[in-house]
Amino acid sequence: MEILYKSTRGNKEAVTASQAILQGLSPDGGLFVPTAVPKLKKSLKELSELSYQELAYEVMSSFLTDFTEEELKGCIQRAYDSKFDTTEIAPLAEKDGAYYLELFHGATIAFKDMALSILPHLMTVSAKKNHEDREIVILTATSGDTGKAAMAGFADVPGTRIIVFYPKHGVSPIQEKQMVTQKGANTYVVGITGNFDDAQTAVKKMFHDPKLGEELAQAGFLFSSANSINVGRLVPQIVYYVYAYATLLRQGKIQEGEKIHAVVPTGNFGNILAAYYGKQMGLPIDKLICASNDNKVLYDFFSTGVYDKNREFILTTSPSMDILISSNLERLIYRIAGEDSEKCKELMEALSAQGKYEITADMREQLGDFYGNYATEEEAGQTIARVFRKTGYMMDPHTAVAATVYEKYKAQTGDERIAVIASTASPYKFTRSVMCSLDSKYETMSDFELVDELNRLTGTAVPRAIEEIRTAPVLHDRVVDAADMPAAVKDILGIK
Ligand SMILES: *Cc1c(COP(=O)(O)O)cnc(C)c1O
Repeated sequence: MEILYKSTRGNKEAVTASQAILQGLSPDGGLFVPTAVPKLKKSLKELSELSYQELAYEVMSSFLTDFTEEELKGCIQRAYDSKFDTTEIAPLAEKDGAYYLELFHGATIAFKDMALSILPHLMTVSAKKNHEDREIVILTATSGDTGKAAMAGFADVPGTRIIVFYPKHGVSPIQEKQMVTQKGANTYVVGITGNFDDAQTAVKKMFHDPKLGEELAQAGFLFSSANSINVGRLVPQIVYYVYAYATLLRQGKIQEGEKIHAVVPTGNFGNILAAYYGKQMGLPIDKLICASNDNKVLYDFFSTGVYDKNREFILTTSPSMDILISSNLERLIYRIAGEDSEKCKELMEALSAQGKYEITADMREQLGDFYGNYATEEEAGQTIARVFRKTGYMMDPHTAVAATVYEKYKAQTGDERIAVIASTASPYKFTRSVMCSLDSKYETMSDFELVDELNRLTGTAVPRAIEEIRTAPVLHDRVVDAADMPAAVKDILGIK
């Protein structure tokens, strides 16, 4: 069955997977969604016998139907290789009555690697398929992890350049050091004096600026996006939910067909949306547990049916979830609106004009698969300390938000069904918050001293990604106002 992609905001002609990947965002401002969600092609039992790469092919080939087997397998082999520090790619750790799906074994030790190690390959294959010979310029706004993971993926990939914008004062020191030391002649990093939403809004505006688009085309460039709205990121993320289920089945922890919960620390709603698609493919997932930090727009949305970003933006120790506009939620909105693009467009226009919208009662009724809650800073810190003291397992602050919300869910419902918690970053990426959750005495140490403390305390190896940046020179130091981002892009590309 051929799967095409159409916009959430218009009934224009659908495009192929490779075209959707190349374009990133639909020209009408909507996100690309598959015309149908394909079903898993093999039984769960059969899937449980596959390697990560084989499973990736099973899942991704159902969505990316205009890729040949050779093309897609080539992309998968180049992505999920020794860049990951385990052949399992996404191992499952059973701790304290839950299963942590560790998505941080890639090049930049955060879950963004799961998709961004393959996106550049999907994109260059897509360009070739569509006879696109302009140079692809990836513009990305990052709340910390995407930027580095995207650069690691695109660095020195021929025919591409990547420009990353990050909030100068909204990422952790290690996240910043990871970005500003990025190598690769085609990578550019720009700090902005604003928050992540400012950066993301400005990037979206550039995508929709016809004048800028024309200037770029003249100069031989084509904008694309590596943000989590790209279909080429969403689809690879479905794979690890299927893999987690397959692993549980292989290990005899569940019976074939038994439902599990997926608990996901959420920001832009990309990761959890992949689990939702997984469920629609037939993966036995019961609840999709959406965990927020103090920026609990999504929790409020699930509780009230009102999405309202008009609130204070709170900087937390889980910066990759400090987000007030969860872009990928639009795909869910479209779905629960009965694939009514007019309704979806109306709500998204209200969000952009008033910063808020309310869904209908009919739409709310279709949110039964989801449970939303949030964790305060204090609660997340307590979870890190509690689980570490009990089991010796150290989790990062994002994962701690999810683990806390899972505890709240169990306390509220008494539901003891097996749960997989998406563990989205290595604790080594956030040493300060992690160590200070254990003891305030660590406050006076530097982030890199804390790396050694963490290593001493847990006995886990310091990841290569951290060793590399300890002494690496800063290669990027540009900082601009959010308003000056288009000028910075033109300057970088040498457009007058
Ligand atoms: C990006 C990120 C998240 C949030 O994922 P979304 O897909 O944006 O919801 C959570 N944790 C970490 C560590 C991340 O990098």
